[in-house]
Amino acid sequence: QKKYIATPSQTKEILKKHKFSFKKSLGQNFLVDVNVLENIVKNAGVSKESAAIEIGPGIGALTEQLAIHADKVVAFEIDGRLIPILKDTLSGYENVQLIHQDILKADVAKVVEENFDSSQEVHIVANLPYYITTPILMKLIRDRLPVTSITVMIQKEVADRMAAKPNTKSYGSLTIAIQYYTNAEVVMNVPKTVFMPQPNVDSSILKLVLRDEPPVQVDNEDFFFRIVQASFAQRRKTLRNNLTSHLGDQYDKEKISEILETAGIDGGRRGESLDMGEFAVLANTFWQAVG
Ligand code: SAM
Repeated sequence: QKKYIATPSQTKEILKKHKFSFKKSLGQNFLVDVNVLENIVKNAGVSKESAAIEIGPGIGALTEQLAIHADKVVAFEIDGRLIPILKDTLSGYENVQLIHQDILKADVAKVVEENFDSSQEVHIVANLPYYITTPILMKLIRDRLPVTSITVMIQKEVADRMAAKPNTKSYGSLTIAIQYYTNAEVVMNVPKTVFMPQPNVDSSILKLVLRDEPPVQVDNEDFFFRIVQASFAQRRKTLRNNLTSHLGDQYDKEKISEILETAGIDGGRRGESLDMGEFAVLANTFWQAVG
């Protein structure tokens, strides 16, 4: 019977052998539950024909499962102390490539091109460092990489916001930023007890499937996101009031009311009641009113 890295006893032994001390500032909470790891890999859709990219392999808990289930794995780790440890723990796997680099500074597209077959599906899979979840996901999504899906363990509250539906507490500008590029789904919630050390927050596995095309047609993407931001600026305010305080230097209150009417959207509504289609109509109407 093979002993996986992610069993609590094996993890403790590896940490002790290499005298490793956790760096809280790097979001180091390692997974010590093989079932949860298998669930992540299964939900990610990884298969022996596909390639995987991991962010933050730690001591290799998830990397090992990816090496078993995928054709090839490339893992980016920022903490140089972990590289020799990973070389040791993953020595039995020939299909893993480690890159000692901050993922935010990495040219992921180049890495994909150099390491994987162009016909191969690529999945990004990670137990992300929670202090930079959103910047990492936004970078990966906006880089428009040739990647099929992104499946990540993240803070539950953030996963809920990314996968939210209109008229809920979690729905906001982050929801739109994520769902404009991906189809987002919370796969499962995970208790703190599966990590070492345990984080202070609850976690969820979030799956993002990248869209070929945005679900709505917008005239100008930056302006669309500006309108969305403004609409959610103060959650208890009406759409009309939020838009007036945030775009008021460009458009007066009357012009804003007029544009809302042209768009067919009641300015007395709150931002959280608009779906992405309505935000697109609103942004395009504004854009055309000035253009
Ligand atoms: N994958 C391992 C697991 O599941 O047990 C470790 C996950 S731990 C939550 C996050 C990992 O990301 C740590 O190994 C940490 O050093 C690494 N990390 C933190 N910031 C990073 C960055 N900017 N780029 C790459 N890796 C980073």
